[in-house]
Amino acid sequence: MSRIQLLPETLANQIAAGEVVQRPASVVKELLENAIDAGARHIKLIVKDGGKGLIQVIDDGHGMDETDARMCFERHATSKIRNTDDLFRIQTKGFRGEALASIAAVAHVELRTRTEDMELGTLVRIEGGRLVSQEPVSAPKGTSIAVKNLFFNVPARRKFLKSAQVEMRHIIDEFQRVAIPHHHIGFTLIHNGHEVYRLLPSNLMQRIAHIFGRKMPERLVPVSEQTDYIKIHGYAGKPEFAKQRRGEQFFFVNNRYFKSSYLHSAVMQAYEGLLPEKRIPPYFLFFEIDPGHIDVNIHPTKTEIKFDDEYTVYNLLRASVRHALGKFDQMPSIDFDITPGLIPRAKPSSGKTYREPKIQVDPRFNPFRDDRPQHPFPGQISAPQTPEEPPVLPDFPTVEETVPEPPQGTTVFQWKDKYLVTRMPEGLMIVHQHRAHKSVLFARFLDQLSRSDVNTQELLFPESRDYMPAELDLLEKHKDILHQTGIHFRIEGQTLHLSAVPAGVEPGAVLAFMDELLAHWSDDIPLQGDELHRFLANKLAAKAAIRTGHKMSTGEQQQLLAQLFRLPEPKYDPSGKPNFIILPQEDIDKKFE
Ligand code: ADP
Ligand code: MG
Repeated sequence: MSRIQLLPETLANQIAAGEVVQRPASVVKELLENAIDAGARHIKLIVKDGGKGLIQVIDDGHGMDETDARMCFERHATSKIRNTDDLFRIQTKGFRGEALASIAAVAHVELRTRTEDMELGTLVRIEGGRLVSQEPVSAPKGTSIAVKNLFFNVPARRKFLKSAQVEMRHIIDEFQRVAIPHHHIGFTLIHNGHEVYRLLPSNLMQRIAHIFGRKMPERLVPVSEQTDYIKIHGYAGKPEFAKQRRGEQFFFVNNRYFKSSYLHSAVMQAYEGLLPEKRIPPYFLFFEIDPGHIDVNIHPTKTEIKFDDEYTVYNLLRASVRHALGKFDQMPSIDFDITPGLIPRAKPSSGKTYREPKIQVDPRFNPFRDDRPQHPFPGQISAPQTPEEPPVLPDFPTVEETVPEPPQGTTVFQWKDKYLVTRMPEGLMIVHQHRAHKSVLFARFLDQLSRSDVNTQELLFPESRDYMPAELDLLEKHKDILHQTGIHFRIEGQTLHLSAVPAGVEPGAVLAFMDELLAHWSDDIPLQGDELHRFLANKLAAKAAIRTGHKMSTGEQQQLLAQLFRLPEPKYDPSGKPNFIILPQEDIDKKFE
């Protein structure tokens, strides 16, 4: 009797799964990539317990019909290649048709999907590779795949998984690797009901700022080089911001993340002599190359990539990073490269030294010595008022104290009650009034919180409001934290009486802030220390900042600009969005050509 037997299909799939699905993060990667391949504009990733409980990806891509919804779980079922030639022209993330079969072999999977022209969607349930059910279901256009109980039938694998925290770290890594190059796609990541990231569609630099913090952009210099063989672009860190830890180094080829110790050493060579010992700079480097010149097939999870001319790539990479760092040496210390097309070009050859932007204001102006009738509570923001009696913005310094510079006249005006426009040596600067004010308040609140020194303002007439008992419990529980932010209240029965607010913040804004906190606390995510302070300062600033539609007097406009430019990071608001842009003069000149 023959000894050799074919493995049962499910066992074969389980074995294959071992290659593709090592841990929850591998599932995340495959599902996110499928959503991108399906043309999604928004992708939501929901994770529970580091992916051990649930991994769900919801996209608004093209979806699947009833047949494909079943077929996609077959091994080697792919819509992405048809023949060998396709393999060398591959533009999609996936092409092996293995991922879903592998995942379904070792988990409980629920797929809901609908294409544009189907009226009803399809729901498919698969457990351990076995089809459990398929039925029509109403579903939005797109696809949702929920993967539960990963490795439920492979106990050895399940046991090998690390703590939820460690697995989540891997998931976040994969999420970032996918989200950075696909910055035009919106991504949300929710872990155990808590929103970890909400990334709006944006440009590359904004995406980097949203993920790595608003300080990151000014720590980077642009890299750009092109030959017939390959195009390299992206950003490399200024040497002084190199860290001892790895973790902010990214290579992408045709927008696919890959690892390469060989190319990493090319980057490190470019930094030779510039870095303190054992430091690694952040970098985000993109290679664009004809897919025929790379082999992505050498590794089942495709994180290693082979270029057919590695040596050329190595040399070009080293040269282009070196070149970028050299150029930066003579570049402005503030780089406005946040909005493409609005980048003031540094001219290294001109030998000019860069001047920090200075706001040109009338130094004789003092908003606190104003002829206008004063607001009854100085320093309090109030609802928009008549133009004759504009509101007084809180805590802006007097102009004298912010700009010691010689007077050059006042050149600032408000446009559409939304932007402040002023002139700069490089061109026209347009400031987003709400974000600028939010950034100013954020810095102030954060500073006060960290010093436990909050300016409060007693209310002459306490504001009262009724809450649900559960909400009152939460407010009572967090009374001390709220006290720290300058919010004082007492509770009587169902009613909360607000007796003091942070100086300069309207009671209505404080109540709105408390509503946000209640929503957050009910998810029960404890924040601590610095993180808690940032959270509170951010929410409070968002509520208290002047809004679009708010008319500002010239004095207030000047104050806001002066205050903004005293911040260490005037460029971005606390969520990493730009506070201002600069329209370079040469761009304006060009329009007149
Ligand atoms: P591959 O991505 O290598 O083709 P997968 O097993 O990941 O293999 O997916 C199999 C097929 O299922 C894909 O080729 C695609 O046709 C379909 N598919 C998977 N995920 C989605 C999705 N989110 N939206 C639409 N189609 C999908
Ligand atoms: Mg795939």
